[in-house]
Amino acid sequence: MSAALDRVALRDAVQREAQRLGFALVGVARAEASARRAELEQWIHDGKHGEMQWIADRVTEAADVRTLLRGARSVICVADRYHTGAADRVEVGRGRIARYARTKDYHDIIRDRLRRLGRFVREHAPSSETRLTGDIHPILEREQAARALLGAIGKHTLLIRPGLGSYFLLGEIITDADIAASDEAPPSDATHADSTDPCGQCTRCLDACPTKAITPWSVDATRCTAYLTIEHRSAIAPEFFGSTGDWWFGCDICQEVCPHTQATRASRRAGTNEQLAPRLDSIDLLEVLGWSEADRARLVVSSALKRATLPMMKRNALLALASMVRHDPALAPSVLARAAEIERDEQEDPMVRDAACQLRGCSAID
Ligand code: SF4
Ligand code: SF4
Repeated sequence: MSAALDRVALRDAVQREAQRLGFALVGVARAEASARRAELEQWIHDGKHGEMQWIADRVTEAADVRTLLRGARSVICVADRYHTGAADRVEVGRGRIARYARTKDYHDIIRDRLRRLGRFVREHAPSSETRLTGDIHPILEREQAARALLGAIGKHTLLIRPGLGSYFLLGEIITDADIAASDEAPPSDATHADSTDPCGQCTRCLDACPTKAITPWSVDATRCTAYLTIEHRSAIAPEFFGSTGDWWFGCDICQEVCPHTQATRASRRAGTNEQLAPRLDSIDLLEVLGWSEADRARLVVSSALKRATLPMMKRNALLALASMVRHDPALAPSVLARAAEIERDEQEDPMVRDAACQLRGCSAID
């Protein structure tokens, strides 16, 4: 067992170990109550969490990490960078996948290294306990990351690291070890960002969001394509058909337009985690409509795409096709004919038939 380190030395050692494990960013925040609890409660009260009931059920944990580990003092925050910001090549008839879901399932990639980092903390702070979060517990992880000086939150609510953008996957370890916070003592190197407003007068993400889901520093999930295509398990409201663009799973528009995310020579040089190399960036939408469970199963092996069921995948394909036929009339005859077939197919899932109906502009299934 290693000798116990003092608070600052422990922080520096944790930081070095996180970097050795391949995390692009690392910092430490004090384990404290969120400053945004009232805002979160209002957001839920307004129904902006949609069908994500687990958020409403776990506000107390989300708003105070100390409820997840008795005596918690510190939150170690890490981030993997998964994309350099290079633009996509858009292809007719193909639905795009959000960049974070193009890779091997990020949960496995982050969790394994977080476990190793937790072990490191316990070795260097004897008798300490650690608890992993990162999608396991619904904590306000962007707020924690900003407190740990990993970056600052933009109007689109995502963490921005000036010079590197916002394509980050976050993870945290809550611990009762007393570790110096990143804002407590001068950083020993250039790994920390300042936490001031990264947006200024910019409104690009608000203007570009196709469904007007963003108000500064808040996103109405029920209007966001990422929520609608990944978390929303039921039929999608008619108003979104034709307006969400070519996104099949998730949406990156607010990040694509952000000035901080534009690829520069320096940001390309900074690179990404190699384990998060993209495997599949888009999918043939008409093909998806003919898929069986076995086809879906082949696609989702070790992939975050498994969050969508087969009916959701078909519903999402029809949603993306609804936008495509608006902009590409040449595509309309084949798409509308296929949608009519689906709508008549009594063996098909009702949610998929409903989406086919919405695509064709009708109001209900017979
Ligand atoms: S992910 Fe897409 S739909 Fe959601 S807020 Fe960003 S731009 Fe809007
Ligand atoms: S697009 Fe502009 S307003 Fe939106 S997060 Fe980026 S800098 Fe902020």
